[in-house]
Amino acid sequence: MYMYRLHSTEFSKAMKYINTVILPVGSTEVHGPHCALGTDNLIPEELARRLNEVFDREVMVAPTIPYGHSWGLSEFPGTINIDSDVFGRYVTAVGTEFLREGFRHIVLMNGHGGNIPVLAGVTERLADLGAKCLTFNWWTDYREAIGQVAPGIGHAGEDETSLLLAIDESLADVKLAGDHRIDMPGNVKFKGSFRLAYPQAMSGSGSQASATKGETLYNILVKTMADEIRRLWTY
Ligand SMILES: [Zn+2]
Repeated sequence: MYMYRLHSTEFSKAMKYINTVILPVGSTEVHGPHCALGTDNLIPEELARRLNEVFDREVMVAPTIPYGHSWGLSEFPGTINIDSDVFGRYVTAVGTEFLREGFRHIVLMNGHGGNIPVLAGVTERLADLGAKCLTFNWWTDYREAIGQVAPGIGHAGEDETSLLLAIDESLADVKLAGDHRIDMPGNVKFKGSFRLAYPQAMSGSGSQASATKGETLYNILVKTMADEIRRLWTY
């Protein structure tokens, strides 16, 4: 069920039997020379759409939070970077409102790496307020399974580009994609460090991506995520 499609009275009726909200959280950010700036919103929205088909009247899909914390790639055109403190307080405020509306299970469907540390703090604050939270970071949670299908993993890499192509082939142009291996450790940070680590704002092998691989990945991800949501309901 999609929250923004309901009238207020329909929402009230639905809240008598739904207590789980899926909240896609993404970013508007450069994704190499070949993927749409909305990649980190489009993929979690597609995962939520497919989970909505699995669960039908058991979950509510909320409107996406489309801007995230993108400090590292903010030097590239098209990246909207929200300060981590502001972003964390904003997502916490949204989650708090969901609790007030009566949801008890909050599923954060994250699409963006820069959001991970901030969302960890958000879920702790929401848990203190009574929520049962589940956060998905698809590319890290299921890395091994993803690597079997799309080994050129990375930011705008084979995995992410394939998931985008499976939504709509016009969202990525693999002819423009590069192949890049990061040779800087992830624990090094200075002004301009991401420019050095990601000269094309990408990593992995976007050139190897395909819609067929993306469809295979969605099937793997959605099945596993559905199981994890069912497990959340048992706690
Ligand atoms: Zn991304």
